[in-house]
Amino acid sequence: MRLIFIGPPGAGKGTQAKKISEKYSIPHISTGDMLREHRKSGTELGMKAESYMNKGELVPDDVILDMIKDRLSQDDCRKNGFLLDGFPRNLEQKQALDKLLNDIGMSIDKVLVLEVPDDVLTKRLLNRAKKEGRTDDTEDVIKNRLKVYHDITSPIIDSYKNDGLVYTVNGVGDIDDIFGELLKILK
Ligand code: ADP
Repeated sequence: MRLIFIGPPGAGKGTQAKKISEKYSIPHISTGDMLREHRKSGTELGMKAESYMNKGELVPDDVILDMIKDRLSQDDCRKNGFLLDGFPRNLEQKQALDKLLNDIGMSIDKVLVLEVPDDVLTKRLLNRAKKEGRTDDTEDVIKNRLKVYHDITSPIIDSYKNDGLVYTVNGVGDIDDIFGELLKILK
């Protein structure tokens, strides 16, 4: 199963993606997590990404695409499929992914979209800032991440709608209920 998960920052993609990945034994590929790992280990890629992440801007496509190409060519993805979380994030990345998959004779099965209103997202992210101390969970940066999502990322939903792949789920409510809604779509 090859899935893409789209939703604004703080929608709960990470939480739900983990549950889906366990249930269906497919790797959960989060570009945000991968970038944070790079940053932690101080790789060149991590250092390049840092300033963008701290401002809530998108990291340049070439950095992300190299990372994704590497990951998707690994055995587990080839065998079982994958769940992409945080990628693609703009139309160029979507086109690059379409081409990459086409080249290896694969396609996306479903695109899951998790919807949550901005005011709820802002509250969740500010709350997460207190617990986890992520450097991009400050009020100004959150505002920018939401703007980037609405301006740059959400247009790819329309593009996937044209492909007939989009399934939308309300991301406000009980974690297990939301998971239940996602499972209904995946069955
Ligand atoms: P969130 O969805 O909560 O904003 P992520 O963990 O998915 O957080 O991403 C954190 C940051 O990592 C983004 O704000 C961006 O700077 C960078 N990033 C992650 N994925 C991508 C991507 N596909 N393209 C460009 N930048 C990305």
